[in-house]
Amino acid sequence: MKYCIHCGKGNSDEARFCGHCGKEITDNPTEEEGERRKTSGRPAMAAFFSAIFPGIGQLYNGRFIKGVLVASIGIFLLTREREIMLVTSFFYVFLWVYGIIDAWYGAKERATE
Ligand SMILES: [Zn+2]
Repeated sequence: MKYCIHCGKGNSDEARFCGHCGKEITDNPTEEEGERRKTSGRPAMAAFFSAIFPGIGQLYNGRFIKGVLVASIGIFLLTREREIMLVTSFFYVFLWVYGIIDAWYGAKERATE
């Protein structure tokens, strides 16, 4: 397997031009390098998903139990009585920030595994 230096996708060893982006394959990066390029956008995506709602980024990272747990706490905090909303929204913001940071590092960790 030969990896395109432009888009990081795999091509056959004989290929002179990338079958995915059409650019010329001038050198021959290792499989490890191709894998790294392929996963380099993951932390930003995971953080983005967690910014939408806590736990989604964790699910995206394949951390199913953690994602469901974080999302459950988020839903729990958002559905409390109005009288204690000041307290619950404080905890929600804390959870939200934690979710984004954890998703970012979780995806980074996964990319180097
Ligand atoms: Zn390519």
